[in-house]
Amino acid sequence: MKEPHVVLKPGKDKPLRQRHPWVFSGALAHIVGEPADGDVVPVLDANGQWLARGYLNRRSQITLRLLTWQQDEAVDDEFWRRRLQQAIRARQALAASQTTDAYRLVNAESDGLPGLIVDRYGDWLVVQLLTVGVAQRQALLVRLLNELLAPMGIYERSDVDVRSHEGLPPVSGLLSGAAPPAPLWVSENGLQFGVSLAEGQKTGFYLDQRENRAHFAVTLATMPGARVLNCFSYSGAFAVYALTAGAAHVTNLDSSYAALLLAEENLRRNRFDPDTQADGLAGDVFQVLRDLRGQRASFDAVILDPPKFAHAQAQVSAATRGYKDINLLALHLLRPGGLLATFSCSGLVSADLFQKVIFGAALDAGREAQIIGRFTHSADHPVLLSFPEGEYLKGLLCRVW
Ligand code: SAH
Repeated sequence: MKEPHVVLKPGKDKPLRQRHPWVFSGALAHIVGEPADGDVVPVLDANGQWLARGYLNRRSQITLRLLTWQQDEAVDDEFWRRRLQQAIRARQALAASQTTDAYRLVNAESDGLPGLIVDRYGDWLVVQLLTVGVAQRQALLVRLLNELLAPMGIYERSDVDVRSHEGLPPVSGLLSGAAPPAPLWVSENGLQFGVSLAEGQKTGFYLDQRENRAHFAVTLATMPGARVLNCFSYSGAFAVYALTAGAAHVTNLDSSYAALLLAEENLRRNRFDPDTQADGLAGDVFQVLRDLRGQRASFDAVILDPPKFAHAQAQVSAATRGYKDINLLALHLLRPGGLLATFSCSGLVSADLFQKVIFGAALDAGREAQIIGRFTHSADHPVLLSFPEGEYLKGLLCRVW
C-alpha cells in the first residue's frame, strides 16, 4: 500500500474487528509514510489485511480513533455530513418536542463521530472538539452544522481537561453566528432553565439528567408536601422538578455561589418563590451533611448528584469511599419511607460497584433500602454497545426505611 497507513502488532486486531473505536499506542507496530496528526489513515493488521480507517494523533495514548470499517467508505466532507445527519435524525422526536429544546445532538464515539459533542440549547448549538482529528475539521463541522440546522449561533466549549491528552489547549468562544444571551432560556419537559453557554458548567447544563429528573419527579409526586435536600444542585434543576411535583420546600446545596444564584432565577422563572419554597446553601456537601446531621435535620427526599470522583483507575477506591460517605450521611437524614436519589457519573465506577457501595452505606447507617428505580443517561446520550467506555452515569432511586 502506497498511501500512508498504520500497521498493528500481531494479535492486536481483535478490538478493531469488534468495532471498538479506539486504537492505543501500544497496539501499533509502525506508521508507514508521513501522515500528519489529524489525518485519516487506513489501519492494517500484522498480515497486511485492511481493517478500518480512522484519524491519527501520535501525541495521544489513543493514537487512532476509528471512523469507518467499510473499505469503500471515504472519509470526505460527505462522510461527516452523513454522520451528522444520522445523529440529528436519531433525535427527531426531541426536535419535534414542544416541551424540550435542550438536548445532546451528537454524542461522540457513540454516534460514530469520535471526539465531537454537539448540544442544542434552543436556537444555539454548543460544540466540544475534544481531539486533534475533529479540532482540525472545525471549519468543516461548523459549516455542516450551519447547513443542517441553521442555528442562531455556534459556541465552542472545548475548555476541558481531556484536550490536554491530545496536546490541545482549552479553548472556548463563539465560532459562528450571534452571541447567545446570558442566560439563554431553554425548556426541558415544559420547565424553564437559564443556561450560560459561555460560563456554565459542562456545555451549560446537565442534559444527561433530563429523563432522570422526570423519573424522580414522578415518584416524588406521590409524596405531596415533601421537604427535599438537593445536594450538588448546580442551577437547581432537580429543585424545579421537585416543586413542580408538589414538594413543599427544597434546599439546594452547592459549592458554587454562582450556581445557587442561577438556581434562584430558575425557581422564579418557573413561578416558585425562592424565599419561602427554597433555601440555597453554599458549602461543601461532605461538611454540610455532617452539620445537618448534628442539627438532627430530617428530609423526605435527598438527591445526591456529585461531580465525577474517579478520573483514573487509581482513584476508584478513594471515589467509592467518597460515595459511601455522602450516601451514609444522606441516609441518616431521611425519615422512614423517604426517597434517596443517588448518582455517580464516574465511568470507572460500574453500576454494580456503585450498588455495592450504597448497600454498604445502608448497612452502616442501620437503614433498610429498597431499589425502586434505576437511572442512566437520557436517550440522547446513547452508548454504543461496542464502546462500553461511553457509559458513565448510573444511579439508584431508593425507598429508605
Ligand atoms: N444535579 C445537577 C448537576 C450537578 S453537577 C443538575 O441536575 O443540574 C455537580 C455540582 O456539584 C456542581 O454544580 C458543582 O459546583 C458541585 N460541587 C462539586 N463538589 C462539591 C462539593 N464538595 N460540595 C458541594 N458542591 C459541590
